[in-house]
Amino acid sequence: MGLIWDRAPISRAELVSASGLAPSSVTRLIQELGQSGLVRESGKGRSSGGRQPLLLEPDGSAGFVIGVDLSGTEMRAGSFDAANRQLHLTTERFVDVGPDAITSQIAAVVERVATSTGPDPRLIGIGLSVPGSVDTANGVVLESYLLRLVDVPLGRTLAVRFGVPVVLEHDASVAALAERFYGAGRGLDDLIYVLVANGIGSGILLGGHVYPGRSGRSGQLGHVIFERNGPLCVCGSQGCLEALAAGPAIAAHAGRMIDRRSATSIGGPVEPEVRTVVSEIVAAADAGDPIATSILSHSADYLALGIVSYVRLFDIEHVIVGGEVVEDSATYFSQLERSLDRYMGRLGTVTLCRGELRQGDHIRGLSRLTIEQSVRALLGITQTPAS
Ligand SMILES: [Zn+2]
Repeated sequence: MGLIWDRAPISRAELVSASGLAPSSVTRLIQELGQSGLVRESGKGRSSGGRQPLLLEPDGSAGFVIGVDLSGTEMRAGSFDAANRQLHLTTERFVDVGPDAITSQIAAVVERVATSTGPDPRLIGIGLSVPGSVDTANGVVLESYLLRLVDVPLGRTLAVRFGVPVVLEHDASVAALAERFYGAGRGLDDLIYVLVANGIGSGILLGGHVYPGRSGRSGQLGHVIFERNGPLCVCGSQGCLEALAAGPAIAAHAGRMIDRRSATSIGGPVEPEVRTVVSEIVAAADAGDPIATSILSHSADYLALGIVSYVRLFDIEHVIVGGEVVEDSATYFSQLERSLDRYMGRLGTVTLCRGELRQGDHIRGLSRLTIEQSVRALLGITQTPAS
């Protein structure tokens, strides 16, 4: 079904050949989508001998979805029509975290975005991208250390409040899907996406679908332990990759260097805002500052260990890295490539690339996922693969 969104305008014959479904199943699906107003005819395609085939495309006027992309400090909320064109976008900082505060702030932003978009067309679904592990089937955030959520039925609460399906997904899995729909992962069915920001997470796509693991906790690369007795992590363990290499670890490392009065162009005193510190280090490293370069190399080297472990375990070739720490830094990426080369040795190959989408653009992958899941719900299709 997603093919209509990905490859529109598309003919019925093209859908049959690309999906591998029986022609009768495709015809039935097109009829149902047409009756629900979700798909419309968009003219005629080129004939390959017989009649000109009818082309189909999603009908944007059928409704809209709202996507809310949560980071550790703010949420980006947008409405998108049923053809996944952006209608409205806003970013708001969290006033507080924890179950009640997060739930009420999300509900309020959804309300505001819905009001500025609707009532015509109608809201058909809500998607939430969460920095943490989620039980997608039951709409529960299992753990989000950054948002201080444990076993919070965020999806269920919002579904009851707004009367529409709510799609909950782990932020790195959303990033993986976004790159597959619109970025560096186009055409790839199997890939790993590694997100490096305030935390480190990863999303695994197998056969084009998110691999959630048994309980929804797959891809927790940030909480794989790489240093026995290493620095304390937000999860309570010591020496996790996240505690060694994510944004706060990079900022703390810079703070120690400045305290030691090492010769660096990184300014001091270090501001408390991690994102500001990291972008300052990234800029200094790209301008040739040796201390800033060594701070980023330290993080990139740990990340390379994580990626090599992944590639060895899953035998997957394509790895996409992204997130605030990686997306603006040529230095970080080249250090990562260097370490990866070293650790991979002659055992296998990996194709590493930087995401084509910035972290702020992942919301478009979230809305695309939400449209598909909402359409499935509207048509009563119960099986819910993530793409
Ligand atoms: Zn941890």
